[in-house]
Amino acid sequence: MGCQADLCREAREDEQRRRLVTSLLIVEPCTGNRWLIDATPDIREQVELANRWAPQPEATGRPPLFEGVFLSHAHFGHYTGLAYFGREVYGSDRMQVWASDRMRSYLSSNGPWDLLVEAGHIELQQLAPGEPLSLGEDLTLEAFTVPHRGEYTDTFGFIVRGPERALIYIPDIDKWSVFETNIEDLIAACDFALLDGSFFADGEIPGRAMSEIPHPFIEESLTRFSVLDAVQRAKVFFTHLNHTNPASDPDSAAAQKVRASGMHIAQEGQVIEL
Ligand SMILES: [Zn+2]
Ligand SMILES: [Zn+2]
Repeated sequence: MGCQADLCREAREDEQRRRLVTSLLIVEPCTGNRWLIDATPDIREQVELANRWAPQPEATGRPPLFEGVFLSHAHFGHYTGLAYFGREVYGSDRMQVWASDRMRSYLSSNGPWDLLVEAGHIELQQLAPGEPLSLGEDLTLEAFTVPHRGEYTDTFGFIVRGPERALIYIPDIDKWSVFETNIEDLIAACDFALLDGSFFADGEIPGRAMSEIPHPFIEESLTRFSVLDAVQRAKVFFTHLNHTNPASDPDSAAAQKVRASGMHIAQEGQVIEL
């Protein structure tokens, strides 16, 4: 909001350059069932995009928009879209919202979220780390805990397994070195790794100490993953790019460096078949 940097000015002038806040839609093609990972402040547009990929059957009233919503943590970009399920907007009827113990207790004991729970617009469900949840035939979701600034809640990453392939999604994590799981092991165990690419390099936010908002810089990840073989590197897609991240411009030297390293920047609307 209000940013005067080149990337943001260009995005305001050219709609093609505009990007929404990071979230993931899971669709089971045989049933059309769909789930959302994270409820972002851009959820209005993202519901329309979801309808483009997996149209809702025609119905009267206000049918459930998703079979369920999975929340990673209580930072602005990841859960504040829940407000749109409330009575001032969609007025959902018991939208199933899956989250960690801390996240559920945060939502049910703080306004305005507690009203969504009390009025039955959302229904909180326990998502226990390490316990795969069956979403359909040959489709599961499993959460795991990652280290990340936890003012209100802990933070989840996710593994989604389809009949043939698996994807991991870690939009926010402090640094790979403080993660108790070896990130390379997770990459080896999946087919697609959508990883925290918030910042490209240190110093990216002028006037702010970036040690207060730790993320693995893409530069650091490129170096760390450079020892992996080409098959492993090709699984890596950086996502959750901050507005300051030069790699969001495909013509930038930063984006070129990612491609030259055999890795990718995740694209808005990108479809990954599992
Ligand atoms: Zn966060
Ligand atoms: Zn985030």
